[in-house]
Amino acid sequence: MKLCPQQTDDHAVAAPRLPGPTSDISNGGCRTRIGTVSTAEPVGPDRDDLIQRLPKVELHVHLEGSVRPATLLRIARRHGLDLGRLDEAGVVELFRFRSFRHFTELYEQCCAALREPADLQLLTEELADMAHEQNVRHLEVTFSPGTHRRGPGIPFDEQLDAVARGAEEARRRTGVSMRFVVDHVRGESPEECQRVAEWAVAGVPRGVVALGLGGFEPGRPASLFAEPIRWAAARGVPFVPHAGEAVGPEGVWDCLAFDPPRIAHGIRSVEDPALVTALRDRSVVLDVCPTSNLRTAVVPGPQAHPLRRLWDAGVRLTLNTDDPTMFHTDLVAEHRLAARWHGFTVAQFAGMALTAVEAALLPDPARAALRDRVRAELSGLGVVPAYPPGVAQPAPAAG
Ligand SMILES: [Zn+2]
Repeated sequence: MKLCPQQTDDHAVAAPRLPGPTSDISNGGCRTRIGTVSTAEPVGPDRDDLIQRLPKVELHVHLEGSVRPATLLRIARRHGLDLGRLDEAGVVELFRFRSFRHFTELYEQCCAALREPADLQLLTEELADMAHEQNVRHLEVTFSPGTHRRGPGIPFDEQLDAVARGAEEARRRTGVSMRFVVDHVRGESPEECQRVAEWAVAGVPRGVVALGLGGFEPGRPASLFAEPIRWAAARGVPFVPHAGEAVGPEGVWDCLAFDPPRIAHGIRSVEDPALVTALRDRSVVLDVCPTSNLRTAVVPGPQAHPLRRLWDAGVRLTLNTDDPTMFHTDLVAEHRLAARWHGFTVAQFAGMALTAVEAALLPDPARAALRDRVRAELSGLGVVPAYPPGVAQPAPAAG
């Protein structure tokens, strides 16, 4: 592996600077008050603690992109990998991306440090710990089994055993529940995608809920992998791809042919009004990750992010971190960004959390339990959820 210090680059994507709140509010469906501040008004610093306390559900987060720098170093040293003089601060510096392609290259290097099932279990447990600290109640975690099989040769069964063990241990310790999306990397072949699809289907009894599609998007549309996507769907495993991130609306249209219940990112749909209408009318949920889009330079700055425009157009949205440690973010920070730059309210964040409950790929009993828990907590906080214009309440996904 090439885990070595990256040259400092003046063009590295900088962390967003966050000034005060905007006033662009279009949907204040409720007027619940806590203390003296309405939860249907923009979140100012005086009620910032509410963002931390809100119950949350995250549907798009990568296991490998959640590795703590210290953990990555510890794992790499245990496996005798040559780190040069790299220390924890050096790993943090590594996670500065010049472009989307640079990010995907570095991501694969980090994956190469993970050489044993125990590494995957450790990452699973640490991800749940981080989620628990932010009042996340349920996670849908993406991982890329082809990457771990091609490099260190970990069989899928052993990968799945490891993450399932980690999820069970995490649930017992923190109460955070987890399910898994197995991701095919676009740069690999359709034959490899078929293998991943077969793993996804075989993994359903142990918590796999979807076939994902990630990696570098340009030139590698979902339709290249039509057969395995349809093969998995015919066996009850839905397709939840990345799209509309490095490629424009055509990438999202391409995915819609496979009836995905959700799309990771999908933000460039905003460039095509007909596509926005299609997403809204078909109740496709976009799992939006604002800081990720800033770090990979998909959008030029936080104010330019289409989060608010998509919401106002009636598209169902959830907030997510994507690769939190690599992007120097967490789910609370994503909420703060949305509040400060786009005027989202606590009521609207509650609506996003309940949208995530309904869009999570869960069987009905588990969804009902999660819904009851999140609703009870929101009620305890005095928050009534607000949804995008025209959305009364989100429809449940097929679990
Ligand atoms: Zn992602």
